[in-house]
Amino acid sequence: MIQVKLFRADLERGLDKQLFEISSEYFVDQIVEFAEEKITCSLTSEKQWHGYRLTGEISIPFFETCDRCLVEFTDQHTAEFFILLTNDTKLLSTEDDDVIWFGDAKNTVDIGPVIRDLVLVEEPFKKICSADCNGICLHCGANRNQENCGCDVDAVVDDRWENWKQMIK
Ligand SMILES: [Zn+2]
Ligand SMILES: [Zn+2]
Repeated sequence: MIQVKLFRADLERGLDKQLFEISSEYFVDQIVEFAEEKITCSLTSEKQWHGYRLTGEISIPFFETCDRCLVEFTDQHTAEFFILLTNDTKLLSTEDDDVIWFGDAKNTVDIGPVIRDLVLVEEPFKKICSADCNGICLHCGANRNQENCGCDVDAVVDDRWENWKQMIK
């Protein structure tokens, strides 16, 4: 379980871009991998009549394998997020922010579960090392970012087409 514990006393004083570090070990059972041991997150809090509003920025060093060229690379993602800590049950159904119940009797609140979901949602669906990655040559398997193997990929496709035509003759 990921724990990012906040104390009421600190929230009362106000957090101003305070840094929190989350060990990437918390994600060992997930499919995501990280290039570093820590995920960093900065939090700013603002007091409101029903609790506190948190503005955060999280920086996640995803460790990925490029879908095109199969080379491993670090995809550093930053995302902004908002969390509401509230003692107002009516706000718990708000959909714009992540809302966490923070009753008056509680002195600490754990935003770990929200952070965890945030990290998992941020993982890019498409994993491309760079927008102009040339990928792998379908013919010889060379990484076309590193070498120009000289294969005419169009010709390869044509060859297959020819073979197929031969087969149905
Ligand atoms: Zn690539
Ligand atoms: Zn080639």
